[in-house]
Amino acid sequence: MRFDLLTIFPGFFSGPFDFGIIRRARQQGIIEIAIHDLRSFTFDKHHIVDDRPFGGGDGMVLKPEPIFRAVETLTGDHQGDHQADHQADHQDDGDQAGKRTAVVLLSPQGRIFNQGEAERFATQCSRMILICGRYEGVDERVVENLVTDEISIGDYVLTGGETPAMVIVDAVTRLLPNALGSETSAVYDSFSDGLLDYPHFTRPAEFRDWRVPEVLIGGHHAEVARWRRRAALLKTLKMRPDLLDKASLSDDERRWLDEIRNGDPEI
Ligand code: SAM
Repeated sequence: MRFDLLTIFPGFFSGPFDFGIIRRARQQGIIEIAIHDLRSFTFDKHHIVDDRPFGGGDGMVLKPEPIFRAVETLTGDHQGDHQADHQADHQDDGDQAGKRTAVVLLSPQGRIFNQGEAERFATQCSRMILICGRYEGVDERVVENLVTDEISIGDYVLTGGETPAMVIVDAVTRLLPNALGSETSAVYDSFSDGLLDYPHFTRPAEFRDWRVPEVLIGGHHAEVARWRRRAALLKTLKMRPDLLDKASLSDDERRWLDEIRNGDPEI
């Protein structure tokens, strides 16, 4: 997977991609990350990337020309060629058969990013171009004519799209084949099977009078698996009950959760 990040603050990204799994994925060639300064896609003397909004009002807006020029340079599209059907054009840009290039605008107005979105990008794309907005945002013609996906990382407003871009690079990378130490590591992560992850414990078995659940020390794998499944169900019931509606649960599990909801826990 190749990530191209378009930003007016390229220095923002010095550091975050140099650690842990992301660093290893880069070293192993699983991902490639390129940071592009939007100002280098301007032709004027002062490298202006923003301007005042038409109609008046506060703040500045990122101009369309540098963003279009940057994306078209990266994808090899020529100006105007893809405007009628930009989504279809970008779908052919991927360097692996059948995979597409996503042109993503980070925006609080976008589709909410979640584990399912991360999985879709990880499996469907060979390249993601991430456009980081600033100020009041970007000229709407970018949204209407250039991007394939407008993505938000949550219902709050940040100062820029750089942090959301990092979130997406991180969440997508760890789902790529071989990015995690073991292929199964992501399987039990929160949201992967519709539930939150089960609680984790490590040594010491006793810390300040707080003892690790005995079943985890006993070495009985089936018992541990049963405990973990129930603990994941309980944690989800407590923290994110909304997830249970869509999770794939057995009849027994649904009955057990009902008993707990009705104040009759058999834990
Ligand atoms: N005026 C915009 C609005 O109210 O929708 C907010 C602009 S925000 C201050 C500047 C930039 O930060 C946005 O263009 C976007 O790139 C990024 N941004 C802010 N919050 C975000 C979020 N929740 N998800 C993704 N990007 C966000």
